[in-house]
Amino acid sequence: MRDSRHDNGFSTRAIHHGYDPLAHGGALVPPIYQTATYAFPTVEYGAACFAGEQAGHFYSRISNPTLNLLEARMASLEGGEAGLALASGMGAITSTLWTLLRPGDELIVGQTVYGCTFAFMHHGIGAFGVTIRHVDLNDADALRAALSDKTRMIYFETPANPTMRLIDIAAVAEAVRGRDVLVVVDNTYCTPYLQRPLELGADLVVHSATKYLSGHGDITAGLVVGRQALVDRIRLQGLKDMTGAVLSPQDAMLLMRGIKTLALRMDRHCANAQQVADYLSRQPQVELIHYPGLPSFAQHDLAKRQMRLPGGMIAFELKGGLGAGRRFMNALGLFARAVSLGDAESLAQHPASMTHSSYTPEERAQHGISEGLVRLSVGLEDIEDLLADVQQALRACA
Ligand SMILES: *Cc1c(COP(=O)(O)O)cnc(C)c1O
Repeated sequence: MRDSRHDNGFSTRAIHHGYDPLAHGGALVPPIYQTATYAFPTVEYGAACFAGEQAGHFYSRISNPTLNLLEARMASLEGGEAGLALASGMGAITSTLWTLLRPGDELIVGQTVYGCTFAFMHHGIGAFGVTIRHVDLNDADALRAALSDKTRMIYFETPANPTMRLIDIAAVAEAVRGRDVLVVVDNTYCTPYLQRPLELGADLVVHSATKYLSGHGDITAGLVVGRQALVDRIRLQGLKDMTGAVLSPQDAMLLMRGIKTLALRMDRHCANAQQVADYLSRQPQVELIHYPGLPSFAQHDLAKRQMRLPGGMIAFELKGGLGAGRRFMNALGLFARAVSLGDAESLAQHPASMTHSSYTPEERAQHGISEGLVRLSVGLEDIEDLLADVQQALRACA
């Protein structure tokens, strides 16, 4: 196979890994296996498949060749042994946590996480006897104090959604080395093109592939990457029996199409976001701005160490807080007022009333999400048009 050499670069693997056209009748693009079930040559063969003694597909909730190709490609890009594709980011996160946590276990979570992840932890798995502790994971003493014999997992996003705070992945992995604790990183904001948590010591990476990986806003999908044994467990328990959050073969195909252009798109997202952030940081109406590519960003050095480029997401607050933020958002013309992120289209959203409305106002304050925070996902349009839109919206809300 063309890509069995491990020295191929990121984009080459994103386009070719795991697929040989000549083994598929010359089809340059992998065929879609649109099938729910698979025929066995004999009863004995089927029995061996079910017993795990014979490699082979038997039902598409468990495995499908189109999904398996996507999984192998993502594992290669993240630098992991194995991947698992799921129907959404929440499908990936819930399948992982349901599989790896038991009643009585303790889960340490970064201060801020995506709204539905927060809701799942506190109202889902938290209601089944898992204790959740939010900790400032950059504070080594606080992390040490929170660890106990019952801690089984540390879970975080970096940059965190929506505050953009970074967490030092290598430092967290180092702090739990030798313990029976899994480090799980949601790498949605960065994708493996910008940041590879497994290479920094994490055990598992989860993704909302709905975002940058698919890149075109036309599917929901999720991924898990890590050691083979862990990913196998998540497939056979979390996915197969607990959530059933299986991705469709059609959507796996669209996701592989998106991943082919990931590096190109991320370079453009980052270049555009840097210019929008530079512009915003010079405007007197802007009270504060969080973008890892700005020298004023508190964790600028960590960003340079841990991320290839600063990403396409910006969080900022206008003087006048919530009211000014709402006026700004309503005046935007090219940026769509929409949740999600990582699309070709630029998007603006207000976490307190949208993605993070699953937090109570008190919880938002506690977790660093101010009521006036505006989140931008900077798209792939021409930078002159994006800057003109931001400029006119600032003028309109002044
Ligand atoms: C969107 C998102 C999720 C959830 O993914 P879905 O595909 O919407 O289920 C999880 N984590 C982060 C950081 C996200 O942005």
